[in-house]
Amino acid sequence: LACPTASLYERECIADVWRALDDPDKIVLAQTAPSIQVTLGELFGMPPGTVVTGKLVAALRRLGFDKVFATDFSADLTIIEEAHEFLERLEAGGPFPMLTSCCPGWIKFCEHFYPEFLGHLSTCKSPHQMFGALAKTYFAAKHSYDPRKVVVVAIMPCVAKKFEASRPEMGTDQFRDVDYVLTTRELGRMIRQAGIDFGSLPDEDYDQPLGIASGAGTIFGATGGVMEAAVRTAYAVTHPDERGLIDMAELRGQSGIKEAWVDLGRWQVRVGVAHGLGNARRLLELVKAGEAFHYLEIMACPGGCVGGSGQPILAGHDQAALSLDYRHNRADALYRIDFSRTIRRSHENPQAKKIYEEFLGRPLGPTAMKLLHTTYTPRSPVPTRYDPQLFPSIFPRS
Ligand code: SF4
Repeated sequence: LACPTASLYERECIADVWRALDDPDKIVLAQTAPSIQVTLGELFGMPPGTVVTGKLVAALRRLGFDKVFATDFSADLTIIEEAHEFLERLEAGGPFPMLTSCCPGWIKFCEHFYPEFLGHLSTCKSPHQMFGALAKTYFAAKHSYDPRKVVVVAIMPCVAKKFEASRPEMGTDQFRDVDYVLTTRELGRMIRQAGIDFGSLPDEDYDQPLGIASGAGTIFGATGGVMEAAVRTAYAVTHPDERGLIDMAELRGQSGIKEAWVDLGRWQVRVGVAHGLGNARRLLELVKAGEAFHYLEIMACPGGCVGGSGQPILAGHDQAALSLDYRHNRADALYRIDFSRTIRRSHENPQAKKIYEEFLGRPLGPTAMKLLHTTYTPRSPVPTRYDPQLFPSIFPRS
C-alpha cells in the first residue's frame, strides 16, 4: 500500500465476522455508514448512485446479524456534539479554525504532518466509534446484555477505519467500541459467499432505536456534507425562531477546496472544505500563511467517503476517468435521500433527543465527553511507508 500516513492497511475481517455470526453466545450488531447505501449496488451490477438502503438491511439480516442499525444515526450525534463544541469555541474566542475529526485518514495525516493543528481538532469521535460506544453501554443496558457479548461490526467505505477501531483510545478496559470493520467490498464478498441474490431482496427497514437518522446524518458521506450538517445545527441554535438555512450549495460538488460565509447570530463565520490530502495540505498551508477560517472540514479521500478506499472498484474500467462521475453520482444520491427526509437537521432526530434525555444528559456533558470524545497523538518521525517494524502482522518476518 502507498498510504502516506500508514493509517491504511487492509486486513480482511470476513473470517472473524463469520465466526462471530456463528457463535450463539454473541449478539452481533451491524452498523452501516451513510455512503454504503449508494455504492453497494455497484458490486451487483447496478449503476452508480443507485440507492439500495432496504436491500442492504435485508442482506445483513440474511447473513445472520441480530440487529442492523445506521451509522447515520450516530452521525447525527457527532453533529450535535461538534456543533456545540464549535459554538463553545466561538464564545471562548478559539482556537480557530476548528477542524473536523470524523475521517481517520485525515486524523493520522494531521498527527504526522501537522501536529501543530492537533489542538484545533474537534474532540468528537467519528460516528461509527460513537455508535460502538453507545451500543456497548446504552443499548446493552437497555436490553440487559453483557457488553462483552455484544459484537459491533461496522460496514464502512474505508480501510482507515480498521486502523481507527484499533486505536487504544477507542474503547475502555472492558470493551472495544467497534470489534470489526468490513469495507463495502468485503460485505459484497460475504453476500456472494452466502449465495444471496442481492438484486431480488425485498426492501427492509433498519432496526430501532439506533436506526433513525436525519438527512444531515446521511450527507456525511459526501465532501462538504459534514460541514453542511454542522452548520444546519449551529444555525438553528443561534436562530431559534427561524427554520432557514438547510441547503448549502457552496459546500457541495467536487471542487478541491470550497468555502462559505455563515451568519451565526453574533458571529459571521467563514467555513471551508477540502477533500483529498493534497487539497488538505493546500488549505492548511493557506491557514499557516494567515488565511482566517473559523471551521474546516477535511476528508482524506477525493469526494469524501463516496470515494473511499473500501468502495467498489470496477474491474476493466479506467478508474481515473470514471471516478469523478462516480463520485458525483454517489454524492448526488445521498443528497436525494437527504431531500426526501422529513427530518433534515441532526438535533431534530427524535432518537438522538431521547438518548440525551435518558442517558447522555447534555451535549458536551460528562457522559458524552467520556463516551463520545477522544484525544490525539503527535506522531513523529513520519513512518517509512513500508517499514515492516510498524505492521509485523502484515509484513511477517521471513
Ligand atoms: Fe475513510 Fe476516506 Fe471517508 Fe476519510 S474520507 S472516513 S479515509 S472513506
